[in-house]
Amino acid sequence: MSGRDGAEGRLAGELRARLLSWYGRARRDLPWRRTRDPYAVWLSETMLQQTRVETVLPYYERFLRELPTVQALADAAEARVLALWSGLGYYRRARMLRAAAKRVAAEYGGRVPSDPAELRRLEGVGAYTAGAIASIAFGRRAAIVDGNVARVLARLFAIDDDVKSARGAARVWRLAERLLPDGDGDPGDWNQALMELGATVCVPRDPKCDACPVCDMCAARAGRRTAELPRATAKRAPTEVRRVAIVLASSDAVLLARRRRDVLFGGLWEPPSADGPVAELASRLGVRASDLVPAGTVVHLLSHRRMHVEVARAELRPERAGPRRWPVPGPEYDAAEPVPLRRVRGRPHSALTRKILMVANVEAAGLRSR
Ligand code: SF4
Repeated sequence: MSGRDGAEGRLAGELRARLLSWYGRARRDLPWRRTRDPYAVWLSETMLQQTRVETVLPYYERFLRELPTVQALADAAEARVLALWSGLGYYRRARMLRAAAKRVAAEYGGRVPSDPAELRRLEGVGAYTAGAIASIAFGRRAAIVDGNVARVLARLFAIDDDVKSARGAARVWRLAERLLPDGDGDPGDWNQALMELGATVCVPRDPKCDACPVCDMCAARAGRRTAELPRATAKRAPTEVRRVAIVLASSDAVLLARRRRDVLFGGLWEPPSADGPVAELASRLGVRASDLVPAGTVVHLLSHRRMHVEVARAELRPERAGPRRWPVPGPEYDAAEPVPLRRVRGRPHSALTRKILMVANVEAAGLRSR
């Protein structure tokens, strides 16, 4: 849009000037905003997908401390990367990031490419992440649309399509591309200004229109439609999943099993669980059902599932806690072994595993503080 004559171009210029000036004053001081290192930008944008800023902060800092460069990530074992990601969820992101780092190391000499099309060839890098790296780290004219940007644009321009539908998303992307600065601002700052407005002012419920720097330019506000935009089709209710888990623990070790790579939570370690009767799982573990003590139920929400895990605890007897081969406790696993409690934190694991250990009263060092 910019670069053209006419009212549309002037409107876009005014919108950019106001939003960029507001962003300069109001932006939150976040660690990934203090750098233009493409690897750091890439890491932060990957972690921030589907995850809140406050949750990401400690993970981002620890990950960068441990693996400060693309090459360091490319050289790291998958288990180490998953351990650094433990509790952040969506573990596929971590695997893809590592695979892409290997490609950048091998094909680009460890230098992250700046071209959005090349970036999109990397594992796990879609239009959003490619646009973020290209614009924020390299100042390229590349648009990004996340949930925040889609909401802001749907309201500002009164877009009636569902922004998650193919048609609505295409419309929002086109608009975001047309709004990109063309010599009158930094594309990375512009993209971040839009996202910041969505994250802090134009929030999903009850947007703070009185504090909005562009409220007199907003079609939804003018039409009193802020509550109805963006339109969304009703979310599907999550599938309820019921499982049982057995925590076999002594005062210094707990039995953990590793999930096969091709199943949910692949590569992560957890107390053995199953979707069948608890007695069947107990018998696979060589535990009498009468020795199980019910510990409670853990409820854990994933993107499309709500898991209800009934947890039972039994004693891990010393003669079974030593280094020996345990049979895998079910078809979802490919390894099982007693892990000293002080070492659990270093094993890749999910937030669900933490909840299960907590309900079973197993104190694994450093887990609660993460
Ligand atoms: Fe969002 Fe309100 Fe600003 Fe419109 S005026 S962009 S609805 S915060």
